[in-house]
Amino acid sequence: MRTTPLQKLGTIEGNQLYIKREDLIPFCFGGNKARKAELFFQIIDAGSYDCVVTYGSSSSNHCRVIANMCASRGISCHVIAPAEAFGVSYNQQMMKLYNAEISVVHVSEVHDQIENTIAALKRQGKTPYFIPGGGHGITGTQAYVNCYDEIADYRKTNGTTFDLIFLASGTGTTQAGLICGKLLHHDSCDIIGISIARKNPRGRDIVLESVREYMGHRATLSEIQDSTVFVDEYVTNGYGQTDSAIQETILKVLLTYGIPLDETYTGKAFHGMTEYLKNNQIRGKNVLFIHTGGTPLFFDALRKWDDGK
Ligand SMILES: *Cc1c(COP(=O)(O)O)cnc(C)c1O
Repeated sequence: MRTTPLQKLGTIEGNQLYIKREDLIPFCFGGNKARKAELFFQIIDAGSYDCVVTYGSSSSNHCRVIANMCASRGISCHVIAPAEAFGVSYNQQMMKLYNAEISVVHVSEVHDQIENTIAALKRQGKTPYFIPGGGHGITGTQAYVNCYDEIADYRKTNGTTFDLIFLASGTGTTQAGLICGKLLHHDSCDIIGISIARKNPRGRDIVLESVREYMGHRATLSEIQDSTVFVDEYVTNGYGQTDSAIQETILKVLLTYGIPLDETYTGKAFHGMTEYLKNNQIRGKNVLFIHTGGTPLFFDALRKWDDGK
């Protein structure tokens, strides 16, 4: 099995810092959406599907990867996008290169548009496969159980046990998968999701629900609750919103380690991780940051900074 690199970076607030490079998954700039997509396309390739329907905004890493996977198989990709979040981005430009059919509708019409698109494709004699936005659901969760297995393998090989694992949490599927992996391995590390948009209690509830759905009877509710830490203190003004502290973090990580982060996900999470360690006076621990990808968004930020915006 292929695994993504796990490197030691340096120190952070008196802790040892490691990073897992999901951004280096070797398909279309990688990222957690590429790891999830691999599993969805195992199902698609094994079935008799000839088109894919999915959902996401113009800056969606998920839609970029799904559209590329469809293009590489010569099957059509139908993206339903909310008009409210449809600006210019490199992900959107790539979706066009892959000939994805993008329907931009008001956010209140997204649900109906998905149903209508699937029904219309079926009427044309096609067999569509629907992938939920962001790759949410049990298949997406499984992808990050697999990632946790790689982290456990690293410990076996190198003897390094991680005390805390941080990541950017959006739909919560990536975090849910890591939590399930930790529970299945009976590990004691803390998996800390830094919210990039949602507030509690809703944000945490969605992660909890994904963990429960995947684990079934393999974990008790209190084990699941104790394992689910969803931190909503660093979302700034919401999804895609940034501030100067996040921008400084991105610049610092790029200059120090040569690793690009973005404003929506990884830069926000890295900054949140730094603050969390500082504010909770956590020292002398082994800390692992999951780089969940989104590299094209780094270039969006660069272009924006260059324009002086
Ligand atoms: C989608 C995304 C996330 C959030 O993943 P979820 O599984 O939706 O929580 C984090 N980082 C990047 C770069 C993403 O594209």
